[in-house]
Amino acid sequence: MTAVASFDVERIRADFPILHTMARGHPLVYLDSAATSQKPQVVIDALVDYYTTSNANVHRSVHYLAERATTAYEEARARVGRFVNAPSPESVVWVRGTTEAINLIATSWGRRNLSEGDTVLLTEMEHHSNLVPWQMLAKPRDHGGIGIRLDFVPVTEDGQLDMDAAREKLATGPRLFGFMAKSNVLGTENPVAELCALARANGVVTLVDGAQSVPHGTVDFQALGCDFLAFSAHKALGPMGIGALIVNPCRYPEMSPYQGGGEMIMRVKLATSTYKAPPICFEAGTPSAGDAIAFHTALDYLENLDLSAVHAHETRLTRLALDLLAEKGIKTFGPDDAALRAGIVSFDVPGVHPHDVSTLLDGRGIAVRAGHHCCQPLMRKLGVVATSRASFYLYNTEDEVRQFADGLDHVREYFKR
Ligand code: PMP
Repeated sequence: MTAVASFDVERIRADFPILHTMARGHPLVYLDSAATSQKPQVVIDALVDYYTTSNANVHRSVHYLAERATTAYEEARARVGRFVNAPSPESVVWVRGTTEAINLIATSWGRRNLSEGDTVLLTEMEHHSNLVPWQMLAKPRDHGGIGIRLDFVPVTEDGQLDMDAAREKLATGPRLFGFMAKSNVLGTENPVAELCALARANGVVTLVDGAQSVPHGTVDFQALGCDFLAFSAHKALGPMGIGALIVNPCRYPEMSPYQGGGEMIMRVKLATSTYKAPPICFEAGTPSAGDAIAFHTALDYLENLDLSAVHAHETRLTRLALDLLAEKGIKTFGPDDAALRAGIVSFDVPGVHPHDVSTLLDGRGIAVRAGHHCCQPLMRKLGVVATSRASFYLYNTEDEVRQFADGLDHVREYFKR
């Protein structure tokens, strides 16, 4: 692995083979890391190495390979826990990603602790993965739900959570407050510690969607004092198909396994079974061991960087993009203060559909995302059906941001806007 003592974007780029791709005849400019990050060679190597030297089903056999795979898999669990300062490795539940983590909470905790009429508080900026699982519980019993009520903290004009409304709504006694640490559309960094403290003061259980914040290395589970934290490896230099749910151990006694099968059991009779202790009882079936192990490598890579320098770099890129787009009269969504929104810029080129923006930029090798970003309610709030979104990560450069802005001139010329 390349040790990077201080932040040097060109050295970082050298670690990511895909960044040297030619796309449509141009050097790739990858501005879609909020959808998924690219992977450094060490992570790709870790996956290949696992299948070359260590592949075996974990926790099942005592042979050499099984022991090797199981040890590396459990070391990865501990590594993930350390990265977000979880209380212990046992508070880390392996899942496929943020979506599965939230579904696990809704089912394992929600179905056991919520009753008809109870309120779950969410926000208007949530990703579908933190809306739909709760909507399922809000359905009546004859449609598979339990009839909970949903309430929402509004988003202000400048794309932040309305903190007065959050305070008021938390005081009305919702059972759980689920919110994203950082918006995948607006880039807004929510005041997570303050929100968790408010929730705690009102006896409200907290679920933090860390999909967009954990990849930037800024999340400290214990300092935040939340109950649940969900995130995906693939947005943090790791593989797809693996992620983690961090559980405050005081919540484990309130949760029941929601998937049954191999590995999660102690003893099975024909009609009944007993389960292992958490986290294993929430991990039925063969896990993505190789992906978990490569996630370990990804987190080592990230922590080997100066994460505050990385954050400053991402903030610089964001500021530059906001300034260049403002100069061109292109509307952006979310807070104007780049320090409140590192890494993500959603925008609207007047009179041009975001898919056309994306297609024309793609013609120059520039990858941005267009669409509703799995946040249809937020789109409605913003008064649009879709936005274009450029998202930056540690390997992007100022030059790429300028190429992107120049690309928008081309889009406007093409559409005579
Ligand atoms: N929450 C947020 C804020 C996200 O950005 C995403 C991914 N776009 C998710 C949840 C869902 O993550 P995954 O698809 O990896 O489960």
